[in-house]
Amino acid sequence: MKLYNTLSRRLEELPSPPGPSRIYFCGPTVDQRAHIGNARPFALGMWLRAWLRHRGYDATLIHNITDINDKIYDAAPGASAELAERAAQWYIEDTGDLGLGMPDALPRATEAVESIVAFIEKLVEGENAYEAGGDVYFSVSTDPGYGRLSRQKVENMEPEEESPLKRAPQDFALWKATKPGEDTSWDSPWGKGRPGWHIECSVMAEDAFGPVFEIHGGGLDLVFPHHENELAQSLALGHDFARVWMHNGLLTRGGEKMSKSLGNDMTIRGVVDDWGREVALMLLLSGQWRKPLDFNQGTLEQARAQLETFRNVFRSPSEPVGDWAELVAALDDDFNTPEALAAMHRWRDHQLLRRAFGIFGLDSIAQLEEAPAELAELAARRRDARDAKDFAEADRLRDELAAAGWEVRDVAEPPGFQLVRRP
Ligand SMILES: [Zn+2]
Repeated sequence: MKLYNTLSRRLEELPSPPGPSRIYFCGPTVDQRAHIGNARPFALGMWLRAWLRHRGYDATLIHNITDINDKIYDAAPGASAELAERAAQWYIEDTGDLGLGMPDALPRATEAVESIVAFIEKLVEGENAYEAGGDVYFSVSTDPGYGRLSRQKVENMEPEEESPLKRAPQDFALWKATKPGEDTSWDSPWGKGRPGWHIECSVMAEDAFGPVFEIHGGGLDLVFPHHENELAQSLALGHDFARVWMHNGLLTRGGEKMSKSLGNDMTIRGVVDDWGREVALMLLLSGQWRKPLDFNQGTLEQARAQLETFRNVFRSPSEPVGDWAELVAALDDDFNTPEALAAMHRWRDHQLLRRAFGIFGLDSIAQLEEAPAELAELAARRRDARDAKDFAEADRLRDELAAAGWEVRDVAEPPGFQLVRRP
């Protein structure tokens, strides 16, 4: 199984099964109802875990929830903890409605503060970090390889935030002293405050897996500064960190970046309510995970049409056409889901298709909708009319069913009929 690694900029072979395959995917900051963009790393992580397990790996997925962050303080002055709790529940409900199950754990930053403080203390002891005015900063100059992930030179890097307390503009906060208006804080050797964003993920990943694990994922916008900084501070403790870094392409709308500030964002909740979870998942599957993917009326309609094409295969008699090896070849090659879908479109073997859709949480495609009892009754009368060679009556009943949106199909083996909703 090969995956593209942002760190090495090439495809890399995973160790052979059973692995382990320990996967950490960065989750959302919970300050509002989650954006559909958050569904991409969530679904990718869940699908990758399912596929690796299918391939015999001992795969575990950790997906964190960032419930301490400047954005949350800004979104709910004086009530940030309540908002973070409510929005974390929304995220769990909304991703739960995608029907993919849940990661093995969803750790929260608020539960990890003690480990975070201990981690920062080690960085300060090792002189990779320094205290200044109640803040603690990571000293970028102590890491000669800094910039290894985003492949930038330090002098060209955009400082994340300005502060006169920093020794160098690229140094980043590990701990931030409580500011007026911030309604949550924790004790530390440097006074009351709260962790910076990047240290939260280093610590939650290491708490779950130990320092070294196989796969770290997240959106492409996290390469810098978030993941660059995670990697720097973890390596500073003298051990390796994640081996493979996966960065999914971002979702766009009409070719533009989708964001709350541009007012063109869609929530997971909104897409699932308006289009259904199957359409959302089919659209996500139709794009290669590293590339951008456009979510708009047109692409959602195309995804719906693709679903309908697959449903029609299940509505028709099955031929044993299909080769599982095609799916393996596509997914083992950098988890190429559009290639996998292309193979599945060639298949006619219901059992094989059902198995493949099971990996993507879409087994429901195979379940045909059952016709209401009164229509089943009409279809039975049509069969009786045909048996009695009253073809005019049989045709009339067929038209009546068609007007109600159902098609009756005769099945030879075993003799009978099937009622199928017309697309
Ligand atoms: Zn993270």
